[in-house]
Amino acid sequence: MPNPHTADAPTLLWFRQDLRLTDNPALAAAVKAGPVIPVFILDDETPGQWKAGGATRWWLHHSLEALATDLRKLGSDLVLRRGPADKVIPALVKQTGATAIFWNRQYEPWAIARDTRIKDSLKANGIKAESFNASLLREPWEMKTGSGGPYRVFTPFWRAARQQLGTVETLARPKAIAAPAAWPATDKLAAWKLLPVKPDWATGFTPLWTPGEQGARTRLDGFLAGTIGGYAANRDRPDIEATSRLSPHLHFGEISPRQLWKAATAAAQSKGQETNADKFLAEVGWREFSYHLLYHFPHLPERNYKESFDAFPWADSDTNFRKWCRGQTGYPIVDAGMRELWTTGFMHNRVRMVAASFLIKHLLIPWQRGEAWFWDTLVDADLASNSASWQWVAGSGADAAPYFRIFNPVMQGEKFDPAGAYVRKWVPELATCSPKFIHRPWDAPDFARLRYPAPMVDHATARDRALKAFKTLPKAE
Ligand code: FAD
Repeated sequence: MPNPHTADAPTLLWFRQDLRLTDNPALAAAVKAGPVIPVFILDDETPGQWKAGGATRWWLHHSLEALATDLRKLGSDLVLRRGPADKVIPALVKQTGATAIFWNRQYEPWAIARDTRIKDSLKANGIKAESFNASLLREPWEMKTGSGGPYRVFTPFWRAARQQLGTVETLARPKAIAAPAAWPATDKLAAWKLLPVKPDWATGFTPLWTPGEQGARTRLDGFLAGTIGGYAANRDRPDIEATSRLSPHLHFGEISPRQLWKAATAAAQSKGQETNADKFLAEVGWREFSYHLLYHFPHLPERNYKESFDAFPWADSDTNFRKWCRGQTGYPIVDAGMRELWTTGFMHNRVRMVAASFLIKHLLIPWQRGEAWFWDTLVDADLASNSASWQWVAGSGADAAPYFRIFNPVMQGEKFDPAGAYVRKWVPELATCSPKFIHRPWDAPDFARLRYPAPMVDHATARDRALKAFKTLPKAE
């Protein structure tokens, strides 16, 4: 029996990185409890240096618009508030008379600390505060090695996660959401100024992305209907659209990994795509592994996972860093990636690896600077995946690429962009360069006419310098 004094008291539903209505456990629980006040808080203070970057703010604006529209269709709405959640939440509880608050968990260290504080203080005041898992297949603390510790190697982690998963269930979208007797005041989304204006550097984002739950679903359906067929063979090819491009949708929780799991598993069975679906789900597994690492090693975004790298003799340089950011290194595959990133908010995974390796190993610039640039420019910027991936490339991370494996940007280009179509698309100065020289234009007879920079460092020299620097480190633990 509902308590007669609280039956009509609303439940606050705090949306965070779960901007969807389907398979949303906190929403489902709130709907069951009675009237719901959905709220999103723009909290730029608590995350410190990890507040949302420029590109994710663009995404967030559009995703919140889509979410509010979807909520209104179900008889509800979205309340927007700005400020530290530690203050906003208690104020909202007071203003609305809410007796409960539900949210889906985040795993960033600053979010865990904040949520724990909020939960403890609400509970102490007799408010029910409950959190749910909406964004991972397995919680980081559910995955333990034989000796009871966290996993540090991907393959056994993913093998165990798959075994534990069993049948994956997803929650239905609610058919209606009961409104509260009165709505609290809300900010205007436009007043948050999440979109760039002068200059509007996001004009290249719009044709490519449809933020929001519907956009995510359409992207997944399109992927499963076609692209998945060449996933295992072509996922490393930036010149072919061979991957799902679901990463920003996953970051904002517009689609859940459980939904991906179900859909990809069904496609594997009905369309004979086992190998492709397995490979695709293993990449989703890397996302899970990144969250596992971030949870167990919360300094991952700032400090070397392998402490032996603390003594690395970097050769940091603002001038070199700027050339890298602007796609002016003189290495076509790196420059194409950096310009794709600036124009679209995205970079192909293989090119991310090559561009990141170039910054760290060819230029000897600390990985944290590249990580911060990606944080600001990627629409899928995600604390777990970004920091784990940067440390993976640097060789300082868990289960990382060995430091001495230094990508040759010419060979990477020739292997994964064989005709140079990707480079031609993003580096128009090289549009007329012959396929033979597209990845080493300095060897082309007409190089002087191309108006493209000469390589900022010689590959062989840079490689030797990087290996020498690495040899100065104490033996890895
Ligand atoms: P698909 O190949 O279709 O893979 C499906 C999903 O699996 C992706 O959407 C993503 O959620 C996940 N995934 C794929 N590869 C990885 C990976 N290596 N690590 C973790 N998850 C993965 N990914 C982010 O989501 N946010 C980041 O901030 C981010 N920063 C990166 C930085 C560097 C230096 C590198 C090398 C990789 C980074 N990645 C990051 C991982 C990867 O590049 C992207 O997830 C991928 O390119 C997204 O494209 P997709 O959705 O088409 O991937």
